[in-house]
Amino acid sequence: MANSLKLTSPGATRALLAQFGIRARKKYGQNFLTDANIVRGIVEAAGIGEEDCVLEIGPGIGTMTQELSEAAGRVICVEIDENLRPVLAQTLEDCTNVTILWQDILKTDLRALSETWNEGRPLKVVANLPYYVTTPILLHLLEEKGCFSSITVMVQKEVADRICAGPGSREYGALSLAVQYYTSPEIVLKVPPSCFLPRPAVESAVLFLQAYEEPPVDAEEGFLFALVRASFNQRRKTLANGLSHGFRYGDRTLTRARVEEALAAMGLPADIRGEKLSLEEFAALSRILVK
Ligand code: SAM
Repeated sequence: MANSLKLTSPGATRALLAQFGIRARKKYGQNFLTDANIVRGIVEAAGIGEEDCVLEIGPGIGTMTQELSEAAGRVICVEIDENLRPVLAQTLEDCTNVTILWQDILKTDLRALSETWNEGRPLKVVANLPYYVTTPILLHLLEEKGCFSSITVMVQKEVADRICAGPGSREYGALSLAVQYYTSPEIVLKVPPSCFLPRPAVESAVLFLQAYEEPPVDAEEGFLFALVRASFNQRRKTLANGLSHGFRYGDRTLTRARVEEALAAMGLPADIRGEKLSLEEFAALSRILVK
């Protein structure tokens, strides 16, 4: 799996793109990593070993794929941009444990992937994500419970902060709760724009999401998430007001009195806002209201 051509420098990346007459495509969120320490740091944070089957979303020109190929037993890449075919054919020439699927990750059946390539056992996801679809990709992965043991991804720093935020902070919201329901998130690296080609306009961060085998709270999932979404759609309203106007789950709605009664039963004030409730409190509220 040794590679003659390492891509982890701006010069090597520029030369490769010029050789194939390729420009980074904005429409696919292409910002190629050019920093060897960051690439190594991501693979180390992901804790990849020979026993692992890795799913890399968006290998691009193969910079991180080369490192993953050396560390993992098998690497499955899903890449949407077929213009990169000749580039990856060259850069991954020696990486015999890498398979590339030319498709959109959002349309990929993740369970079938783990069955085909890892006998149904959980995969480890590693990616420098395209920023224009970060949230849909994360939700697509998280909702396929049991398909992944961990997800290590480069995202915008602002998104990483939102994902790790706790109750009461400005960044806390439906995304924080969705990710924290399925995984325990941690920011493991902060990455400046100078580590990419072309440079993104924003700071980036690497998130490590350790998947829970069981959710950390007890709740009917669909009801809980309907509650969370309605609470944060009406962020400036009190929870009782927001839920009485914005909550729908099938044909279920909620009255203001019903929500206030549930809050009182939990010892919470009637005028509390959703952004003050922890995941455990949302779950407790959902257990009362689902009845
Ligand atoms: N992994 C490379 C690196 O670190 O240099 C490239 C990262 S670049 C930020 C994002 C990659 O995701 C690009 O290769 C892009 O073409 C690919 N991509 C964008 N949207 C995608 C999608 N919906 N499904 C699969 N790949 C996608």
